[in-house]
Amino acid sequence: DDEMAKQSENVLTRLNEQGFEAYWVGGCVRDEMLGRAVDDMDITTSASPEQVMALFDDCIPTGLQHGTVTVRSGGYYFEVTTFRTESEYQDNRRPAAVQFVQDIKEDLERRDFTMNALAMDVKGAIVDPFGGQVDIKQELVRCVGRAVERFGEDALRMLRCVRFASVFNFRIAYNTWKGLVDQRELLRHIAMERVRTEMVKMMAGPHPLKGLELLFRSRALEYVKAPVDSSRFNKDLLTGLHHLAGEHVLLRWSCVLLAGGYNREEADKLLRLWTFSNEQRVRITGVLQMEQLVSDFVEQCEDDKGLRENWILSVLHCGAQAANDWLLLQEQLPTQWRKGTEQTHDRLLKVQTLAADWSRSMPVHAIKELEITGEQVLQLVERKGGPWLGQLMKHLLRETAIGNIMNQYETLCAEVKRVAANDQA
Ligand code: ATP
Ligand code: MG
Repeated sequence: DDEMAKQSENVLTRLNEQGFEAYWVGGCVRDEMLGRAVDDMDITTSASPEQVMALFDDCIPTGLQHGTVTVRSGGYYFEVTTFRTESEYQDNRRPAAVQFVQDIKEDLERRDFTMNALAMDVKGAIVDPFGGQVDIKQELVRCVGRAVERFGEDALRMLRCVRFASVFNFRIAYNTWKGLVDQRELLRHIAMERVRTEMVKMMAGPHPLKGLELLFRSRALEYVKAPVDSSRFNKDLLTGLHHLAGEHVLLRWSCVLLAGGYNREEADKLLRLWTFSNEQRVRITGVLQMEQLVSDFVEQCEDDKGLRENWILSVLHCGAQAANDWLLLQEQLPTQWRKGTEQTHDRLLKVQTLAADWSRSMPVHAIKELEITGEQVLQLVERKGGPWLGQLMKHLLRETAIGNIMNQYETLCAEVKRVAANDQA
């Protein structure tokens, strides 16, 4: 974004005019070098937070204790942080104290990876004390300093390491990898919310499978608060991830959980522990629920009619979204991954081929779309409301969705009366 670049340049220039050093720093410099879109531009300066506050009218003291002031310029917000070091990490996750310093190199030294320890001044001169530019060229994630120590200070860095390697398709430097494997147990200190944030970024990137392989190989996920056993995953199924690039990112999570052999309940439990939102959980696990229903009915159904009816009932049960997601995923998975006879595979193939048509043929998807209301049913049968009413409405929905009866008031009335008469008998 050119305008953002210009506005941040104004901030640097303003600081320079007052005799302070100022640089773009971290992710934005790295992303620029990688030719990637830059979403936020962080600034680091020799000016103290108070000096920054005095210099800019429009600013918010967002993290004074860490030396950070958010400066607004032309509608853009920039985090301006005073050169600092960190010391005495608590619980392997956050520094107990920060100390302001005068040398940009000392500030860069506290940063996690060489590619993130880059700064650029307003004239475009790069400060790169740890060889970050070479590592970017060689596509390497490498810790600044000794990996074992750096991961020991802040265990989240291990997940950032894997995330960067995955998103950028970089390799991990040997000592950095060794440090990670050494310190993986410290991941138990990291809040699952932060674990999830890293994983979500990784999974949304262009090479999620690469990240997963690194996590499985290091067994890192076995040490987080809500652990996941690497050995349960079906590696063949995971390759489905390659083909889901154009689809909703949450489908990738469905794919991973399916490959892990999770059923809906297990997946829901794990996603809760991983602090996914309600909405995300519903979307991800819908596919797994659909999978359970379909794999059951293809075992049992003999004929096309039965397959179609069961498909429609499953769509009613799991929702159209889940059904669509299941189909999309199904197309991307290696064929024959399920256990089962040739016969069930044939049936499954039939479902895959015809399901979209079956779904389209459904005249109703929900009770509210029925041409009869609960009120009307009550009047018709002259009975007091109760659980039976919901069951009856569901019955009407199923029958109309399958096409056994028409979604017409008179037809539905007749069906209500028929069922009521049966109940009497
Ligand atoms: P992205 O924004 O794409 O997630 P980033 O590298 O910009 O990646 P931020 O969280 O925005 O990540 O952090 C900005 C910079 O702060 C990083 O580039 C790095 O220099 C430093 N940094 C962030 N987190 C850590 C950490 N846990 N340990 C050390 N330095 C860190
Ligand atoms: Mg960033």
